[in-house]
Amino acid sequence: MTAVDLHCHSTFSDGALPPAAVVRRAAANGTRLLALTDHDETGGLAQAQAAARECGVRFVNGVEISVSWRGHTVHIVGLGIDPANTELAAGLAAVRAGRALRAERMAQALAELGIEGALEGARRHAANPDMIGRTHFARHLVERGAVKDLQSAFKRYLGAGKPGYVSHQWANLGDAVRWIKLAGGIAAVAHPGRYPLDSRELVGLIGEFRDCGGDAIEVISASHTPHQIGILVAHVRRYGMRASAGSDFHAVGESRFDIGILPQLPELCPPVWEEW
Ligand code: AMP
Ligand code: MN
Ligand code: MN
Ligand code: MN
Repeated sequence: MTAVDLHCHSTFSDGALPPAAVVRRAAANGTRLLALTDHDETGGLAQAQAAARECGVRFVNGVEISVSWRGHTVHIVGLGIDPANTELAAGLAAVRAGRALRAERMAQALAELGIEGALEGARRHAANPDMIGRTHFARHLVERGAVKDLQSAFKRYLGAGKPGYVSHQWANLGDAVRWIKLAGGIAAVAHPGRYPLDSRELVGLIGEFRDCGGDAIEVISASHTPHQIGILVAHVRRYGMRASAGSDFHAVGESRFDIGILPQLPELCPPVWEEW
């Protein structure tokens, strides 16, 4: 089971390694089945696929879609998608389109706090100009010494409700699931343990997701505690869903979690990768 990782990022979104390097690192860590899931973007999949073939890693096309749900941002992972599907491609392009203006607003908010030039700084960290996100701003804030590390950048400036935060309307939950299903994929709620939702809201999210046609819950995410994993196993069983697993790896040294290093999926949880 530690050989599966179905959630990670490359330079096509806010990861720090190009797709081929992500795949090579996963392979070196023993991963046998890998999905690249860049935010709202599928441009890195072909490079990852080619590298996976060279490394002898089984590769699954993935994406992580940004969704606004009841005033919260949640992420939905699509696995086994066809990136050429026109509905999915158009949906993702629309989601990405909102990022440019949002980035300008974030830079304005930071300028009002005395941090000038953050947009240019963030751009220098974003290899994909279509995909500027908070992580790129965070890396810039660390680089210029405004904060000591990435976590502090979110805690002090970029996290929800913090002074550099700009609220944004992402995709609807139903649309994100629909695009994934039209593209032949499996939809999974990403890292549910990370959302600031109480237990009733979490059940509401999972129920609505399943009613939209959602398939799975990311039970194993590198940031989940054993307690959270237990709760998510219960939800998978209660709702008759499947379980996914992913590190959400972004960069070496930015978090304690490395690609492909994950706890075991508990038994009695049908994995999404059963038929792959
Ligand atoms: P965005 O889609 O531009 O809002 O950026 C979201 C990304 O920011 C997530 O995918 C994470 O990579 C990163 N992120 C969010 N919160 C934190 C945090 N507290 N610490 C580190 N990274 C975070
Ligand atoms: Mn990210
Ligand atoms: Mn996410
Ligand atoms: Mn992610």
